[in-house]
Amino acid sequence: MKTLLLSIILLFTANNLVGENINNKNKVAVLYSDEFLLHDTGLGHPENPERLSKVVNGIKNNKSLTSFLLWPKIKKSSIEEIQLVHTQKYVDLVAREISMIKSNDTSFLSTGDTAISKHSNEVAKLAVGAGITGADEIMKGNVSSAFAIVRPPGHHASASRGMGFCIYNNIAIVARYLQEQHGFKRILIVDFDVHHGNGTQDIFYDDDSVFYFSVHQHPLYPKTGRPNETGIGKGKGFTLNVDVPEGSGDKIFLDAFRNQLNPAMDKYKPEFILISAGFDAHKGDLLGQLNYTSNGFRQVALELKGIAEKYAAGRTLYMLEGGYVADNISQSVNEILGVLIK
Ligand SMILES: [Zn+2]
Repeated sequence: MKTLLLSIILLFTANNLVGENINNKNKVAVLYSDEFLLHDTGLGHPENPERLSKVVNGIKNNKSLTSFLLWPKIKKSSIEEIQLVHTQKYVDLVAREISMIKSNDTSFLSTGDTAISKHSNEVAKLAVGAGITGADEIMKGNVSSAFAIVRPPGHHASASRGMGFCIYNNIAIVARYLQEQHGFKRILIVDFDVHHGNGTQDIFYDDDSVFYFSVHQHPLYPKTGRPNETGIGKGKGFTLNVDVPEGSGDKIFLDAFRNQLNPAMDKYKPEFILISAGFDAHKGDLLGQLNYTSNGFRQVALELKGIAEKYAAGRTLYMLEGGYVADNISQSVNEILGVLIK
């Protein structure tokens, strides 16, 4: 009798655990804070707060997603975390130049074309923190994937230089954090923003512990990311650039994943997938001309999910980069979340 009772208890517990796993497998963490709206880039700037408000409203109004989404509170990143990637000199420069801005003024970082305002450093630290919080949620097993809806974006920032609309390289810091905290040996960063992520490429160019894959428009800012840029030293062969011409469309987009990324990942076997998700390659964008559709982004999300499930136990973190027509970002993000909850 005692044994029977024990068996029943064990069976009950096991079923509950299985049930819990299945539920968490479909759960997605969305990382967002209204504080992201405080980064003021100035009147008429394409990287504006309205982009995020619209995307978040779109997600909240999509009833098919509601029961699958978690909205964890974001922990602001520390200087030590930022310095996993950035030099102390650059971190000090950012702090100093932003602290000099008065009230409602906007200015530019002296390293280049990055608009800044009074709150920009705190907001940029929160954007990094969103990625880290998302990664933590995945590692705790609360969710298997996450989407960080952040600004400013990050992929043009190198270790010592802000560039484009980017202050800190959000995704690169998350990659280093995952290595430090969880000992991952093979992380994949996928970048489908219309622009090449020169900062991310630069940070990991001589490194075989992070594979960088980018598909982007050429010619276009920042003009890097040619197919012959494949890494140096022990990083040789761990950077894969696919540059595509204006007007390419979904088929060319998807082919880059099916014909180039998938075979490369069958060799690399990534343990965690990070995605620099820019939507400025969407048809009708203000800065890009690649004519992808929201359905194209959905198809690519399915390909990435395939790789993640095969090699990385589903561990996938998307982080928003560019995209300058809010409706297009909103539609595409909803499509991707629809893939992640299945
Ligand atoms: Zn971009």
